[in-house]
Amino acid sequence: DIQKLAAHVVLLSSPGLGHLIPFIELGNHFALIHTHLKVTLLAVTSQTSEAETQILNSAMKTNLINIIQIPSPNIFHLIEYDAAPVTRLCVMMREAKPSIRKALSNMTLRPSLFIVDIFGTESLSIAKELRILNYVFVASHAKFLSLVIYTPVLDKQIEGQYVDQEEPLKIPGCNLVPPEDVVDPMLDRNSVQYEEYREVGNRILESDAILVNTWEELEHKHLQALRDEDLLGQILNKIPVHGIGPLVRQRVSETSEEFEPLLQWLDKQPNESVIYISFGSGGTISFEQMTELAWGLELSQQRFVWVVRAPTKVSADAAFFTTKYFNSGDNEVADYLPEGFLSRTNNIGTLIPEWAPQSSILRHRSVGGFLSHCGWNSTLESITNGVPMIAWPLYAEQRMNATLLVEDLGVAVRPKVLPTKKVVDREEIASMVREIMVVDENMKRNPIRGRVKKIRHSAEKALLKGGSSYAAMSRVVKTITSKS
Ligand code: UDP
Repeated sequence: DIQKLAAHVVLLSSPGLGHLIPFIELGNHFALIHTHLKVTLLAVTSQTSEAETQILNSAMKTNLINIIQIPSPNIFHLIEYDAAPVTRLCVMMREAKPSIRKALSNMTLRPSLFIVDIFGTESLSIAKELRILNYVFVASHAKFLSLVIYTPVLDKQIEGQYVDQEEPLKIPGCNLVPPEDVVDPMLDRNSVQYEEYREVGNRILESDAILVNTWEELEHKHLQALRDEDLLGQILNKIPVHGIGPLVRQRVSETSEEFEPLLQWLDKQPNESVIYISFGSGGTISFEQMTELAWGLELSQQRFVWVVRAPTKVSADAAFFTTKYFNSGDNEVADYLPEGFLSRTNNIGTLIPEWAPQSSILRHRSVGGFLSHCGWNSTLESITNGVPMIAWPLYAEQRMNATLLVEDLGVAVRPKVLPTKKVVDREEIASMVREIMVVDENMKRNPIRGRVKKIRHSAEKALLKGGSSYAAMSRVVKTITSKS
């Protein structure tokens, strides 16, 4: 009923589950708390991911938002030249612009607000041309946003590679950033993907406001710095930054019959006794590392659910575009694991090939730990269920996320060396698993668990009426409904 709808919010997501999932959640969030809004998601997807198709299909079934799939731009030339992930994303989003323009200008109900992710910032100009208010939604945290907008400044300040700097990088309002924590595209300043990434930092400043998947209580200091004119506010020049999170998967039903045995197995385990192991939608580890991980789990004597993928020599981030999810190939999981591992751990562990219903697993009462690659969606799914983590960053901004979790928030432990640089051995893995899973017998508690539960509580409060994220969303809705 078009007449009754006050305003139309249009979202644009770029390829990859780490972008698609939070955009669906943002759309659902708008539609659920403000029922008078019409919400449309323009989804640019990669061509290889069955998981993307499944997630889009289940989001369509909920009928909360309209979904328009933008035809996937052809990226064969990029694959041929082995272009880096950020280059691929930016080029795909650039090539999709004519279809995005067409979709936006053909809408019967004129869009009141257009929201893009950081890889879609080139499409902000289309909204400007059509005189539509436009925002950026950063599906990560405020410290990450700080780095993105500060990169053009660092680019002028610093000579040589960032990773070769002897001193940590200084970003106003943030703890010092160790050079090895920079996001992947900053690892090589001579690369095309670095230039693409740096320009995102400039283009974000063309938006009318920025939404971030974080909340005031989690990142008060970072959000304040983004508003403070003596700090990062100077760069943003009055562009408002709203913490509207944590938005995590809720509505999208992800349990299919295939996963019933797993959930039934979890039902039989004691509270918070199982550690869940997964490296996100595309992450993989080497054969050698898989062997150590298997032995480490066995040594820890803890129950586990492990999402196992074939080990790879391809860098973890490239896997994002090359893996065909759900396809375990000709090999059996047992082929990658130490001999006898399956039979020895039969009673305490469950292996899931390729893909698991992650948010249902993390929500389950028997899950008490998560060994994670620290993608921001996974991180939020863990925190909002009060589950402490072992931070095992692989790619993108995950090293920075790991530092935030371990040092700023104290809700995770991490290996002493970067897992991307060196194999983490079985003893260290076993000891980290025990650190987050075992409850101190005298104190009857585990300090990391205590901290993560406090944060879960603050997340719940932020989203409720009267909470900071609720208020921020209401302000956004008020802006668009008053202008419609
Ligand atoms: N995911 C899932 N099952 C899997 C792996 C991932 O449901 O086996 C979901 C996960 O719950 C999260 C998203 O995929 O919502 C991954 O996003 P994240 O930001 O954590 O990492 P990325 O995959 O982008 O590196």
